[in-house]
Amino acid sequence: MAAKKKGSLSINSDNIFPIIKKWLYSDHDIFIREVVSNACDAVTKLRKLSMIGEYEEKSDDNYRIDVIASPTDKTLTFIDNGIGMTADEVNEYINQIAFSGASDFLEKYKDKATDDQIIGHFGLGFYSTFMVADKVTINTLSYKDGAEPVFWECDGGTDYTMSEGDRDVHGTEITLYLNEDCFEFANEYRVKEVLEKYCSFMPEEIFFTNADAAKDEEQAEVVEADAAEGDDAKEESKEKPINDTHPLWTKHPNDCTEEEYKEFYRKVFLDFKEPLFWIHLNMDYPFNLKGILYFPRFNSEYESLEGTIKLYNNQVFIADNIKEVIPEFLLLLKGVIDCPDLPLNVSRSALQNDGFVKKISDYITKKVADKLSGMFKTERETYESYWDDLSPFIKFGCLKDNKFDDKMKDYILYKSVNDNYVTLPEYLEAGKEKYENTVFYTDDEKVQSQYINMFKEQEIDVVVLSHNIDTPYITHQEQRDDKVKFTRVDSGVTDTFKEEISEEEMKETTDKLSEIFKKALNNDKLTIKVEKLKNASVSSMITLSEETRRMQDMMKAYSMGGMMSPDMFGGDQQTLVLNANNDLVQFIMENPEGEHTNMVCEQLYDLARIAHTPLEADAMTKFIARSNEILSLLTK
Ligand code: ADP
Repeated sequence: MAAKKKGSLSINSDNIFPIIKKWLYSDHDIFIREVVSNACDAVTKLRKLSMIGEYEEKSDDNYRIDVIASPTDKTLTFIDNGIGMTADEVNEYINQIAFSGASDFLEKYKDKATDDQIIGHFGLGFYSTFMVADKVTINTLSYKDGAEPVFWECDGGTDYTMSEGDRDVHGTEITLYLNEDCFEFANEYRVKEVLEKYCSFMPEEIFFTNADAAKDEEQAEVVEADAAEGDDAKEESKEKPINDTHPLWTKHPNDCTEEEYKEFYRKVFLDFKEPLFWIHLNMDYPFNLKGILYFPRFNSEYESLEGTIKLYNNQVFIADNIKEVIPEFLLLLKGVIDCPDLPLNVSRSALQNDGFVKKISDYITKKVADKLSGMFKTERETYESYWDDLSPFIKFGCLKDNKFDDKMKDYILYKSVNDNYVTLPEYLEAGKEKYENTVFYTDDEKVQSQYINMFKEQEIDVVVLSHNIDTPYITHQEQRDDKVKFTRVDSGVTDTFKEEISEEEMKETTDKLSEIFKKALNNDKLTIKVEKLKNASVSSMITLSEETRRMQDMMKAYSMGGMMSPDMFGGDQQTLVLNANNDLVQFIMENPEGEHTNMVCEQLYDLARIAHTPLEADAMTKFIARSNEILSLLTK
């Protein structure tokens, strides 16, 4: 190409670049992804051409991509030795297509409220460089025989120039002259950080160089070489690509070892707790999808349950946690999904309504359910050992996704206070003689230990449901199967705990004890019930019906606790159950006017309350004072 060519990019807008800059301000680091993935494509294309015999590889081809930052010059350069472009191709791909791609993009999204609506701004391509650069140059040489090098330059206006270039190796060199606001992209650490984010698994080797440091090193080497003449063992081998060109998910599951899966997990998620297990997704038809989903270990209840699912498109990172593609409950896992078929250049709302995307998300859900149910069936012991970690995740999935719920409902385990795990049918079967279709549970083994012990004495199993997710989950379970009821251990006195008591005797003692207690506690509203509990050592306990307690919990959860008093639901609805078989209760009955009767009543009431819920500060203070008083009576 002899003469310098000047041209004008044919668009209506006077200057598209300021708009690009503004538009993509929020994450303008994506230009690195765009340019590096173009470079990867260029190299991959040349590899393919060579495979089909259209290009004869040279011994020094050594395919690679170099990213060179120069803090001094404030430039960032990308070099690949891929197919390169002829002048015609620059015209077509850069001046026309790429540019129209950019203007299409703006046309499509200029009315959208936020840039969040576009998945990672995919598709903006080469022109995204103008988000950070005042001037961009391309120096390229096509692999084609007899091709001439081309130099292209554009300063962010709509005009460009093209002239003869000086590149002597096929491939493309793109230099960004960074604008003042974006000098950070000449900084080694910043560039490495962005490369790591987007390019860690791109399919061609990528190398990073800090031009300034390289210059210093060169000078040092000259000095060294002078000192040790003849030592030409210059180690090129220490150079390491910043990326892994064959990430584990691209391999066949049969070719991956357990250690490789664990190492990949540590490296990608920086989680040094071993994952419980994983699922390797590998599908070619009817769509292309590969990935690995890890079930993380949740160490404590307080640790956030949030996971990370990284989405890739042909090994190019798109974004984390795109809930339009990945079912929400799966975001609790950690994993990578690579799906080249995803239509990522459309808005998020369009993705959400895309039937194809729905199929992908259904497929992932099905795979997860299959893995879990398979484990239950063939490795129940392992499944049980993972259950505490899996439980919140699976229950959340059941609440969120009907299909998942259908597949998993028979594999939900309940951990009993005896530390064994049972399914719902197993639990109900074991207890069907003593009670029917009722699951007794505790949400706090310590506080409710008195009640739990009573169940233990009667050999009735109690399950522990102490996670936040359990309350909505059991409600969900009851809605699905209206025969089954979940009842907290302190919601009433089960028949098996008590001896027969005649109606007459019951009425008489209840009336008597009610009068004494109401007076002693100075509380007219108190509901008292007398039972003959088999366990005579239990004096008193509080019961609160399951429905009322759930209602109260709900009010608390929506923080309406302060606005509504329990009276609005017909008194506080707690019942003080007194055991007529207990010595202290009998003492009160026989000594209604006794010197210490009031104190005993108060103490029994507080003890019952403590075993139910923590006391309020005021009541606690009184309880402690009274306890001391009782002790001092003993020592008089
Ligand atoms: P896209 O990559 O989505 O096609 P771009 O704007 O990024 O859009 O690039 C437009 C075209 O320019 C590419 O399709 C490719 O043909 C060409 N191109 C860009 N970068 C390179 C490169 N490093 N080597 C060869 N061709 C390139």
